[in-house]
Amino acid sequence: MKKHCKILATVGPACHSVDRLEAMIRAGVNLFRLNFSHGDHDYHTSSLKMIREASRRTGYFVGILQDISGPKVRIGKLKRDVTLQVGDIIEFVREEVVGDFVEPHRLVVSLNHPELLDKLKVGDLIYLYDGIICTRVIETGQSVRAEVISGGMLSSRKGVNFPNTRLEMEVLTEKDRRDIAWGVEHEVDFMAISFVQTGEDMRKARALVESHGGRQHLIAKIEKFDAVENIDEILAASDGLMVARGDLGIEIPYYRVPEVQKMLIRKANEASKPVITATQMLLSMTHAERATRAEISDVANAVLDGSDCLMLSEESAIGEYPVEAVETMAATIREAEAVYPYFKIHRFPYNDEMDVIDESAVNLLQNIDASALLAITTSGQSARKLSRYRPRQPIYAVTHDPLIARQLTLVWGVIPAFLSAAESARQMMIDVIYRGLETGVLIKENNYVVTAGDPPGVPGTTNIIRILRRKELEHFAVMAKERRIPKDWE
Ligand code: PGA
Ligand code: MN
Repeated sequence: MKKHCKILATVGPACHSVDRLEAMIRAGVNLFRLNFSHGDHDYHTSSLKMIREASRRTGYFVGILQDISGPKVRIGKLKRDVTLQVGDIIEFVREEVVGDFVEPHRLVVSLNHPELLDKLKVGDLIYLYDGIICTRVIETGQSVRAEVISGGMLSSRKGVNFPNTRLEMEVLTEKDRRDIAWGVEHEVDFMAISFVQTGEDMRKARALVESHGGRQHLIAKIEKFDAVENIDEILAASDGLMVARGDLGIEIPYYRVPEVQKMLIRKANEASKPVITATQMLLSMTHAERATRAEISDVANAVLDGSDCLMLSEESAIGEYPVEAVETMAATIREAEAVYPYFKIHRFPYNDEMDVIDESAVNLLQNIDASALLAITTSGQSARKLSRYRPRQPIYAVTHDPLIARQLTLVWGVIPAFLSAAESARQMMIDVIYRGLETGVLIKENNYVVTAGDPPGVPGTTNIIRILRRKELEHFAVMAKERRIPKDWE
C-alpha cells in the first residue's frame, strides 16, 4: 500500500543528478521544491529537466513547486563578524554602508529595505539572525536605534524579523516578478508565495501569474504574525498552505508553533485545500545518518494532525543523506498511518453540494469495503474533496490534463493514475476500466467506487457515483483483450 501523506523535497547540490532524484522518487518523494532564494535561472532550469527525466524513468507523476523568495528582510554587508552583548546599540541607517562598530558599543548596519525604518516605533522588537539576537527600538528618526536584549554573533546579510510591527510590504519584489515569469514559461505546477501578509497579497500574485497565461496553483507560506491573524482571507485566496515553521517560529513566540500548526491544518482540511508542514522535520539528518527521536515524533504527529504533505529542506538540498532522509520520512509516515483516524465522516461542515456527494462516495467505499476510489476529474477538485474525508483506500485520479494530474501529487491519498480524454461519460468509464485493468490499477477480483461528472469536462459537476462490481470487471477484462465495448453498454 502506498503512503497517503506526501513528501516534498527541496532540490539542491546534494541531489542535483537524475540518478539521485530518481532514487528519491522511488523512496517516496511526490514533489520537488525549487528554492528561488538560492541559485539562478540556469541552475533551476537544469533541476527542472532532471526532475522531468527522473519522473519519466519511474513512470510516476511528480510535481514541481517553485518557491518564490519574497521580501525577506536582511541586514547589509558587515566588515567582519561581530559579537553583540546585552546593552549594545544597533543603529539601522538608511544609506547603504558596510556595517561595523563605530563606537565600542554601537554597531551601524543597513537594511535591504530601508523604507521599513518609517514603520518602527519606540518599543518595537527587532530580531536578527533567526531570532537569536533580540533588540528593542529606543529611538526613531533619520536612523533607528535599538538596544540589544539578548546577544550573540552576527555576520553579513543575516535575516531580520519584526515580530510586532505591521510592515505592509509589497509581497512581490522585482526579482520575484522575473522568477514568476520564468515559472510560467517553464510550466511549474505550484508556486509558493513567501511572507504573505493578507488575502490581497495572494490575489496580486495570482493576477501576475494569470497575466503571463499561467494556471499554477498558489500556496501561501504562513510565516508572518499578520498572516496568522489574516488566515481566513489568505486561505480563501489560495490553493493551499504551507506551515513555514522556520520563519513563523521567529515571528510568533516559538512555543506557539505547534498550536498554530494544528489550527492551519484544520482550516486547510476543512476547505479541501492541501497543506504542507515544513522545516526542521529531520534537520539532524543533514549531517547524521539517523534522525533524533524527537524529529521522528514530530513527523508522525504532523501526519496525525492532518498534513497532506511534509517537506524536507536542507536535509535533501545540502545534506549528506538525502535519500536516507526520504526513506526515514516515508517509513515514519507509514507507521503513523497504521494508527491513522481514517474515514472522517460527518466531521466537516459542507461548503457546497459536491462535499455532500463526495462524503457519500467515501461512506459507500467504507461500507462495501471497496478496494479504491476512482475519481474521474476535470479540475482535480473532486479528488481534493474526496481526500478531506481521509479514506483508508487510495483515491486514483483520472484526468485529461497532465498539469491537473501533477497538481494532485500534493494531495493526501490521491494517486494521479493515468490520463484519459474520452468525450462522453460512458466512453470515459469504459476507458477507465480498460486502462485500469491494463495498467494494473484495477484488479478484476475487487470492487471499486467511481465518481464522475456527466457531461465530462465541466468542473464541479460530479453527479455519478458508480460501483464497479468484481463480476462486471471480469466481463470487461475479456472484452478489454479484444478492445470491444460490452453489448449492454452500447
Ligand atoms: P524557507 O521557508 O525555507 O523558504 O525559509 C520555510 C520556512 O520558513 O519554514
Ligand atoms: Mn521562510
